[in-house]
Amino acid sequence: MNTYKIVLLKGDGIGPEIVDQAVKVLNKAGEKFGFAIQYEEALLGGSAIDAAGTPLPQETIDKCKAADSTLLGAVGGPKWDTLPGDQRPEKGLLGIRGALGLFANLRPAVIFDELRDASPLKAEIIGGKLDVMVVRELTGGIYFGERGRKEVNGVPAAYDTEMYTVPEIERIARVAFDMARKRGKKLCSVDKANVLESSRLWRATVARIGAEEYPDVELSNMYVDNCAMQLVRNPQQFDVIVTSNIFGDILSDEASMISGSIGMLASASLGSGKAGLYEPIHGSAPDIAGTGKANPLATILSAGMMLKYSLDQPEAAQAIEDAVSAALKQARTPDIAAEGLRTVNCTEMGDLVCSLL
Ligand code: ATP
Ligand code: MG
Repeated sequence: MNTYKIVLLKGDGIGPEIVDQAVKVLNKAGEKFGFAIQYEEALLGGSAIDAAGTPLPQETIDKCKAADSTLLGAVGGPKWDTLPGDQRPEKGLLGIRGALGLFANLRPAVIFDELRDASPLKAEIIGGKLDVMVVRELTGGIYFGERGRKEVNGVPAAYDTEMYTVPEIERIARVAFDMARKRGKKLCSVDKANVLESSRLWRATVARIGAEEYPDVELSNMYVDNCAMQLVRNPQQFDVIVTSNIFGDILSDEASMISGSIGMLASASLGSGKAGLYEPIHGSAPDIAGTGKANPLATILSAGMMLKYSLDQPEAAQAIEDAVSAALKQARTPDIAAEGLRTVNCTEMGDLVCSLL
């Protein structure tokens, strides 16, 4: 039997409650599909500041590096908001991504049939279940390029530089092609190659990797302005989108918000190995922490992504998605409450997903 080692970074606010639900679901999936999980907890964020004086203890990095993957709740809260920026809980989050070499950020935009009403898009645009994955390059591009101030023709000016090396493009392309291979076998690379030299290199490099290593995946290209439009005009056309740091920042927010429910959205960060960091996109929701109102489904779906993309358990991942879908037909947490359906708390939603699994 496969045994996986998973680090739990429960974090702050609703973090512990939602991670506990995901653990229950993972254990149930393990029973059903014949794998076991060994958990180890580590500190990150505010709870780490309180216990160890730093948002990212070295011990946490070491544990995550030794694990098959990491499941994270959320970090931060008003208690730590007055600390200087470089000592805040959120610094721990950036730090752990960097320490683990996670250069790819994956954000699925999924609309379950049961939650179509929450989307700002019309039902006929969404079609059936919508499932788009945005793969964003996370450690290069204009956010990390040379920047500065200077004087141009006697007036003050500022500049930022977009640069990508071929190896940086190759590795993000491989993550995206691998992902497409595990999904609908369609990849759309998004750039601004009609204007930017870095985009022309991006496009050529992605095309070469596709032709050499992934002939089974259908590759298309799209300009970023058009993609922003197509995401709200006809999102069904996309399976996996791969793009640069800055374009991905914008497009992944756009794509995720077409689902309309923050408590449902999962995410992952991957590096060159198989291990990843999986977490809901929402924050620690200090306003509802401890009240039982938190929706655990984004974290449960993040655990599902972990099974699919890091642990090679696609059937278990699919079963979790199906169980979430089925749960949405029976009961809702307060954030997605619906007339005619039972309103349940965080633990009850976790139990319901387990029972439907
Ligand atoms: P961040 O921590 O990402 O910078 P934030 O603290 O402003 O942002 P969140 O913590 O995500 O944002 O909370 C935003 C709102 O969404 C809050 O009202 C919170 O209660 C609600 N919310 C967030 N996550 C959930 C969840 N899982 N279930 C129910 N409500 C949630
Ligand atoms: Mg927050």
